[in-house]
Amino acid sequence: MPLHYLFIFTLLVTDISCRGFKVENRQRQLFLSRNVVTDSGQFDGGVLVDENGKIAGVYTRESIIDLLSEDEGSLEVIDGGKWALMAGGVDSHVHVNEPGRTTWEGYVTATRAAAAGGFTTIVDMPLNSIPPTTTIENFKIKTSAAKEEAYVDVAFWGGIVPGNEVELQNLVKAGVVGFKGFLIDSGVAEFPNVDTDDLEKIFTTLNGTNVVLAFHAEYPISKAKDDGQCEGCDPHVYDTYLASRPPEMELEAVSLLAKYIPRYDVHVHVVHVSAADVVPILEQAREQRIMGGSTRWRGGVTAETCHHYLTLSSEQIPPGHSEYKCSPPIRNVTNKLKLWEYIRDRRIDLIASDHSPTVAERKTSDLMTAWGGISSVQFGLSLFWTEAKARGYSLRTLSHYLSAGPANLVGLRSRKGALKPGFDADLVFFDPDASFVVTPDIIVYKNKISPYMYRVLNGKVMQTYLRGKLIYTDGEVLENPQGQLLINEDVLKKL
Ligand SMILES: [Zn+2]
Repeated sequence: MPLHYLFIFTLLVTDISCRGFKVENRQRQLFLSRNVVTDSGQFDGGVLVDENGKIAGVYTRESIIDLLSEDEGSLEVIDGGKWALMAGGVDSHVHVNEPGRTTWEGYVTATRAAAAGGFTTIVDMPLNSIPPTTTIENFKIKTSAAKEEAYVDVAFWGGIVPGNEVELQNLVKAGVVGFKGFLIDSGVAEFPNVDTDDLEKIFTTLNGTNVVLAFHAEYPISKAKDDGQCEGCDPHVYDTYLASRPPEMELEAVSLLAKYIPRYDVHVHVVHVSAADVVPILEQAREQRIMGGSTRWRGGVTAETCHHYLTLSSEQIPPGHSEYKCSPPIRNVTNKLKLWEYIRDRRIDLIASDHSPTVAERKTSDLMTAWGGISSVQFGLSLFWTEAKARGYSLRTLSHYLSAGPANLVGLRSRKGALKPGFDADLVFFDPDASFVVTPDIIVYKNKISPYMYRVLNGKVMQTYLRGKLIYTDGEVLENPQGQLLINEDVLKKL
């Protein structure tokens, strides 16, 4: 090609690129809805997403008209009409179980279920996979299993077990969001619980860091029996199991943790609160922290509860149905109503699924020996909305507890969990007026077991977008996983 032709050709290409016609670049997108749900309100408007899948702005309908009139046709407009437009859900408590117990659950099925449920980020728990996420080597094994398989973004909790204090700093560097430990037998041999000696070492190691220290807060007390033995009582009756794990076990554990809170500058989080009475104990500890000058989110003392404690109550659980079994157990309706009071008063910080599946053979009718764990990563938004709508709450409450709260907990507060400029465009179109029945054929997670089977749930996820890319629509999760692992991959490689 003669030189002057090449010059003209280069000019043309440059000109075309400048006008935004470069094919490799993504288009900016404008998501419209009559019901945009943000922290500050619900309104008719839209969300502008830039070429990198980040939120560029949140607008009312009037300012969108201006925006569109200035546009030269480079905007892709996605109009959800009456469907609410919200930040994608963040589920900070999911047991994926891969590798090692992949027949129970795996990254493909768990993250596809999350996408179908409007959850764009999940945080994987450190136990039930083999190996557990308790060493840097194990973390490498875990993350290499998850790679290429994530349909939504995946972050990771590390685990604390007796003697692994030396691993904690490296796990933090590699990007775990925090650590989870047990104060009682975890149910799997490779993840032993910690005792008070271990606690002292762990709190000392993590003192002053930004890492969250989360606990399964049940403490074994003499009254309780969970050894599979049941003298003179029927192991198929739910009350037998319930009596084996009374509220005092939760109160005892949280009281123990409360002793460490004033002595150490560590964010303490209690996972899956079932017994409502633990909340005031934590509040007292938080108050002490705040009086002491702590500037941490919620004084660095937080608690979550789960969909099953807010949806179900012990009175309605039929005998022999271990799909309702979890630890701590689902308690009576009075307790459930108390938890809802705390939700109303914003005295609980977030809601998670504690999605903890297993195979059908382990969900036997003997409630004392069956696996404890409920699967619900796919149904969180609808489960919460079914109960919340009946109580007169708005979608802002849903977004507060299922998106912003968990994102805050796991260090994603400037990136996920809200519709704000600069955040990832993780979006969900949700029809708050639609309803559906939970049936095996719509369940995407691996083992189609659920205490909600054949229940009608209100509120339906219509579409899910991850960084502006459609990942779920018309009841189908799209192929080609778009999820990222939220870790420090380069650091992990060098450790
Ligand atoms: Zn759990």
